[in-house]
Amino acid sequence: MSEDPYRTLDVSKDATDAEIKRSYRKLARQYHPDRNPGDAAAEERFKSIQSAYEEIGTAEARSNHDQQKRMEEMFSRGGVSSPFGGSDLGDIFSQFFGGRGGKTSGFDFNFEGNHQGRKKSHETPRGANIEAGIDISMNQAIRGADVKFSHRRMRICSKCKGTSFGSSSQCSSCNGYGVQTKGSTITVRVPKGAEHGHLLRLKGMGHEHPEGESGDLLITVRLDAEDGRRWEEGRLVQEVRIPYSTLVMGGKVRITTPDRKKVQIEIPEGARIGDRRRLQGHGHSGGPLDVEFVLSEPEKLTKSQREALEILRESGL
Ligand SMILES: [Zn+2]
Repeated sequence: MSEDPYRTLDVSKDATDAEIKRSYRKLARQYHPDRNPGDAAAEERFKSIQSAYEEIGTAEARSNHDQQKRMEEMFSRGGVSSPFGGSDLGDIFSQFFGGRGGKTSGFDFNFEGNHQGRKKSHETPRGANIEAGIDISMNQAIRGADVKFSHRRMRICSKCKGTSFGSSSQCSSCNGYGVQTKGSTITVRVPKGAEHGHLLRLKGMGHEHPEGESGDLLITVRLDAEDGRRWEEGRLVQEVRIPYSTLVMGGKVRITTPDRKKVQIEIPEGARIGDRRRLQGHGHSGGPLDVEFVLSEPEKLTKSQREALEILRESGL
């Protein structure tokens, strides 16, 4: 239950949706009951991989999960226990009450500050910011791109125009919150040369507040690292599969870089799994590319490979 789905799926928090899907498929294959018959540990792992994927496997589920996590962090930071008990966080409160006029960049969640309490405040109320992510390819990042983005946000109630907020008048449309959830689709312009983790702030595109300014929409641009690669704190890391014999005795291995160039890498004698080399100029947009040595594990052995391994075994290797 409390397991972090990102950790279970072996991806970072800022991985693209596609990356999450790839990692899920790989792990699900690895721990699938068909492949591990009668293995209780594998079965358990398979189940947690499945439930982690249910939590963050679609953009919508993921955004709900992330929002809930942000709320939980916020409450634990403020030392206030969550009135939501971990559920129903998609409700009106979690989305609505944001920080007050420019004082903080994020939320300023004060639970005394309900309708009435807030009216006494001298500070201008402000709708909450919305945090989200959009995924683009590395090519799109180099050229810049216009990306369609859909999200739900609180808008001033079209019936009462927000006037029922904090008053005793009833509004059947918004139940006195003065705002309603509405979906909107916008086109987001990602600038040329955007890097992984680039933050776009769309002023006033967050939640609206019936008595104050709107929050902002904060979009993190995520670049899909593609199969066999991942981002690590802004660094692009590519796995290089190396046969065991080459790893131990040294040799050469060819890789395909993000630019689709074939590059030969020298593997020194006695290399270890997890060793890294930095290739300057072969990463995203001419940046560095870190290659990490991993063991190439054959799915099936040929007859001669099996014979060779038998000899290895006899020799004690
Ligand atoms: Zn209304």
